[in-house]
Amino acid sequence: MVDTRASLDARGEILKSMQAKCETDLGQRCLLTADLNADDPVPCLIADTSTFVPEAENVNIGELRAQLHHNLSSLFLKMQTVLHASDMACQEIVDHLSEIFSLSQPLIKDTIKEILQQHHVSPTEAVLNDLVNAVNDTNIFVSATAKGEDLSSNKRRKTYFEKTFPVVKPVQYVLEPGRTVVYVPILQMIQEICKHTDILDRIKETKASQEGHYMSHKDGKYFQENTLLSSSELSLPLILYIDDLEIANPLGTSRKIHKLCSVYWMFADLPSKYRSALHVIQLAALCKVPDLHSCGYQRALSPLLQDLGCLEHDGVFIESLGQSVRGTVSVVVADNLAAHSLAGFVQSFRAGYVCRFCKATREEIQSSAVGDGEFTPRTKASHDHDLQDVLQGDGHSQFGVQRDCVLRESLQCFHTITGFPPDVLHDLFEGIVPVELALCIQEMIKLKYFTLEYLNKKIVTFPYQHADKTDKPHPIPKNFAGKKTIGGNGHENLTLLRLLPLMLGNMVPEEDCFWNVLMDLKEVVEVVLSPKFDEDSIQYLQTKIQDHRQILQEVFPEFRLLPKHHYLEHYPDLIRCFGPLVHLWTMRFEGKHRFFKRVIHDTQNFKNVLKTLATRHQHMVAYFLNTPSFFKPHQQITDVSSVLVSSLPEVAKVHIEQKTNSNMIYSTSRIIIDGTNFDAGMFVSVGQEGGLPQFSKIESILLVNNDVTFLCREHKSWYIEHLRSYELSPGNMTVHSLSELNDILPLCAYRVEGKTMAAPQKFMLRVYIATDIAVKVTLTGRPESVDDLIAILREKVKPRLDFEFTLQYEDADFNGQLSCLIDIQELPEKGTLKVVRSESDASSLASSDTEILPHVPVSECRKTWPDIFPVPTFSYEVEHVLEEGNIAYDRSGKTLKLSRAQKHNILESMASVIHGFKPYPSDRDVGMAAEALVKAHPCLKEPGSENGWYGWKISLKFKMGNYRTKLARSGCLVVSVNTGKRSKNNPDKDPPHSNIKRARRAEVNFLPNFPKGQNQASLEEMRLNILHEVEKSEKNLLLIDNLMQMTFSLRRQEIVQENPLLKDFLVKWPALQIESQVCAEFHRITNTNLRNQFYAELDRHTPQLFALYRQKASHTGKVSEVLRDILRIYDREDMHDINIKRTVVLRALAIYLREDDPQFFKTWNVEESDEPDITGTPLALVMEVTENTGPVCFSPAKTAVVVEDEFVLSDIPTFPEAFVLLFGLMYALHLDYPRKLIHTFTFIQKMLMGLDDGNESRNSQKIEMEAEPADVDGSDVNYGASTQKWLHILLKPKRASAIYM
Ligand SMILES: [Zn+2]
Repeated sequence: MVDTRASLDARGEILKSMQAKCETDLGQRCLLTADLNADDPVPCLIADTSTFVPEAENVNIGELRAQLHHNLSSLFLKMQTVLHASDMACQEIVDHLSEIFSLSQPLIKDTIKEILQQHHVSPTEAVLNDLVNAVNDTNIFVSATAKGEDLSSNKRRKTYFEKTFPVVKPVQYVLEPGRTVVYVPILQMIQEICKHTDILDRIKETKASQEGHYMSHKDGKYFQENTLLSSSELSLPLILYIDDLEIANPLGTSRKIHKLCSVYWMFADLPSKYRSALHVIQLAALCKVPDLHSCGYQRALSPLLQDLGCLEHDGVFIESLGQSVRGTVSVVVADNLAAHSLAGFVQSFRAGYVCRFCKATREEIQSSAVGDGEFTPRTKASHDHDLQDVLQGDGHSQFGVQRDCVLRESLQCFHTITGFPPDVLHDLFEGIVPVELALCIQEMIKLKYFTLEYLNKKIVTFPYQHADKTDKPHPIPKNFAGKKTIGGNGHENLTLLRLLPLMLGNMVPEEDCFWNVLMDLKEVVEVVLSPKFDEDSIQYLQTKIQDHRQILQEVFPEFRLLPKHHYLEHYPDLIRCFGPLVHLWTMRFEGKHRFFKRVIHDTQNFKNVLKTLATRHQHMVAYFLNTPSFFKPHQQITDVSSVLVSSLPEVAKVHIEQKTNSNMIYSTSRIIIDGTNFDAGMFVSVGQEGGLPQFSKIESILLVNNDVTFLCREHKSWYIEHLRSYELSPGNMTVHSLSELNDILPLCAYRVEGKTMAAPQKFMLRVYIATDIAVKVTLTGRPESVDDLIAILREKVKPRLDFEFTLQYEDADFNGQLSCLIDIQELPEKGTLKVVRSESDASSLASSDTEILPHVPVSECRKTWPDIFPVPTFSYEVEHVLEEGNIAYDRSGKTLKLSRAQKHNILESMASVIHGFKPYPSDRDVGMAAEALVKAHPCLKEPGSENGWYGWKISLKFKMGNYRTKLARSGCLVVSVNTGKRSKNNPDKDPPHSNIKRARRAEVNFLPNFPKGQNQASLEEMRLNILHEVEKSEKNLLLIDNLMQMTFSLRRQEIVQENPLLKDFLVKWPALQIESQVCAEFHRITNTNLRNQFYAELDRHTPQLFALYRQKASHTGKVSEVLRDILRIYDREDMHDINIKRTVVLRALAIYLREDDPQFFKTWNVEESDEPDITGTPLALVMEVTENTGPVCFSPAKTAVVVEDEFVLSDIPTFPEAFVLLFGLMYALHLDYPRKLIHTFTFIQKMLMGLDDGNESRNSQKIEMEAEPADVDGSDVNYGASTQKWLHILLKPKRASAIYM
């Protein structure tokens, strides 16, 4: 093997050391862009990766000159190979620059002369000329491009490149006269690449996942079975890609298309995120397709195969490791024809044995699916046996085996059966997808849903964004029906299928069968593209593929399935064998193809096209090999601006203040992370709800120290099954880090029919496991106390546990049941702890489902989730089919095949029952329902699945998402209030929530539906009964309570939607003037016990509040003065009645918050007037006194509640009781808080009642974590910090605005 480095002169060493030096100092800044160091917060823009200048002092002049010369040559190389400047352009630049330098000599001369004269030296003309020449000589550009020098002409430059850069030259082989192949020696190439130690480092990054998870080829069964590759020693598995490349001769008049066959290779162990760079994929061979057909792969690839044999047998010496490393081809990825040809299978797909994975024939695949288990899979042993038969027989093929695989003769560790994975690009995007699109579009056009012109207009005018723009589909050709395919390239077809629902969905009726074929295919595609799998998601893929086959055959009984349909059925199992198939697809090589097309276009040279292309390619690779860093930086940012932290939204501010003290950070609208673009305006998927992903729109990208933070607007998402897409509506601002994303790939959302829609590109697996996050924590010893353990966990699992929680452990004494961990000695040495959010935690309400739509109306739906899920009765037909199916299952274990309609009926009925319990069931809930279904009807078990119901679970989740959306559309109020969407029948009507107040105060049952079986009329009748009962002197309170409970939904509708006069409303519903009913109504709305909660929390906060009041009273000012007076009177009394204490706390609260409003807190001195003045009073508490009491009356004789000039509740014995009833009434009557007492009531709502406004939870939670206000001292009460915070926030209107946004 020739080592090209050996031919380098000693300067190679100098270069290396200088590169190393630059990498450590200057290089860091100009080379590794966007390495955002804290001490150097300004991220550098992308600099030329090869240009660097050493420090000015202590430089060896000779070295410097050599280095600059090299930099210049590197620039030339880059111009030609990366920037695609033609030879002619390069030469022109050289000539012109030389001319400019030469013409500027008089300038230099003049300047020198002037300087010398300033220093009182008058040089002779000769000295001056010498000086000018000397200056010229130091100009590296001039000296290197002077006539006859290294870089003066294209030819010389090329020679220079090949001498000093790590160029591995391609070798041309003549196959037969006029037919050649160009080969790039692979062993030499591996040596060159491995001189870059970062490649070796990255290769070592790929590790096998835990069992049952598939993330890379290393998790595949075949890799693990390969004795060479799976050994513990370092080995180099290679992926070979064979694909056709079409190039047009730019000079030919006919613009004839030439087809080349290109063979590429790549290190299989290189993680997929590094594979996006063009130079990571290597060229092995180029050959014209006709020549290849004439000579065969065997001859065309023989130099490559020889070297590969050498790699497997002897290995290749890697300088940096000082040892030889062996390697082999792990897989060959090619289209089916090439794969069959290389592997030695028959190359006909029209009849006979068409599958390289099993022994099915083209006929058999029509009637049986792979999942049926009727096809004999090919194994290594069976294949060797078949091959033996062929070789010993008369040359006839055996089960489609025609001859031995081309690679097998050179490679021992490669096997035909394990070496040819399917290619997603050719099978799906250039195979099944365009064919089925043609099939279904044709039928839908026949049904007059739309015309081809309409569709093409949509395709052309669709507002493609970001990445979709690059892969914009072309209009569908007019003759597509005749051709039975829409043609197009793979990328375009994928985009079209994904966006088709947004283009056409509204033209096609729901449940249209042709539409469903395409939408099922879309789902299959999304799952196949997933970069990671576990057993569950593989099972789901299998179910989806079966479903799709079934509907396709139901809808098009005449359609003959393609062999590619059959290959697709093998995919679930092939993922277990090869790892995720998306890592192996040929799609990645389209960029490489583009490089060659570009070169042909630039060079205008068609004479020796193979050699020209390969040489230019090798120069390009040499350029990158010569740069200090082979890979693109982890993060690339192109346009950065600085932002004041104070100008950011509150959430971002809070987030950033945790990370830095700086008041200035950097922001950008675009960042590239490991090759993935994130642009402002794109959507990322974060979090989940009811098992479906949620989305946030990137508003801007913030850079703090080394971290990237996305400032986003949250969006509520609704799954629309008909469109297989999510409808989004904007919510609050929020911040997310990269690690929070469900999927690294951002997506674009589109405005369709006035709605924002997103269609994800792939199945988001992580969403489904996010509900049960398990964190492994290893402790060095038993903590001192449970509190210590909590503190340790808090620290280790930052920031997930930023709330109050307790711990539960699996108690061995009680059969492993969860018990509360109180004594640290109970902590098992090994085991699972469950984190339980404390009830008292203020944010706990908001974190549960209740955030958007709390659970269900009280009356009918307040059922808790059942221990055993009640599987409903399905339609008559389905029940009949299931009954027979179950009998057959008992007898033979055969599972039932359902039609689409039957499955639909089952899913809809199940979803309806689930919704009855919870509109937003958890992952576990849905799993339980699916399990119950399969238990009740064993014939519905999914064959091959471990638990038999995973696919049902996922289908149910999507069904639930869609069910909620549907309910919202059909006017089901629980949901529609939250969607805020116009109804389908009333598109012009205002959004439903425009005329109601939003559920802002944690109304769990804000607007429930009527109870089952009841309607407006029947409820109205009950209302009249209540009216009647209330009038009686001996009221039956139990009866009233029951009737009030039944009529709750009717009352809510009236009060929320009709906005009646309160006077009238109370006349209609007089029971709301009964104290017990005020409490009951409050409970119905918020699910909280009014009195218990209020008094318990008020008393708990009392010491802290007193401390605050006293502190404030020690200051000067009006508020302090009033507080001082109150406290003085209070302190004068010896015994403190609890009611007096509560009265003081409540009254002083309003004063403390500067909200003491005499219009609200009214006193009525009965000795002075017969009646209190309550005209013009929207809301008030009237205290009855007998003498003038000063600022605050501690113990009024009685208190009354006034609403809109009327006494609603009278004769209440204590002030706190009146206060709490008033608070209850505000909910029952849907009243706003009095404007002047907003802070007081917000404090009561949030701090005392624990009712958070779901949509603001983030703000309030974050705010509580802010630093302590400095002027408040509450050290004596440990739980008081949040009280202080609240009051502090309330006192500062600026801060408060964040809460009331
Ligand atoms: Zn097969």
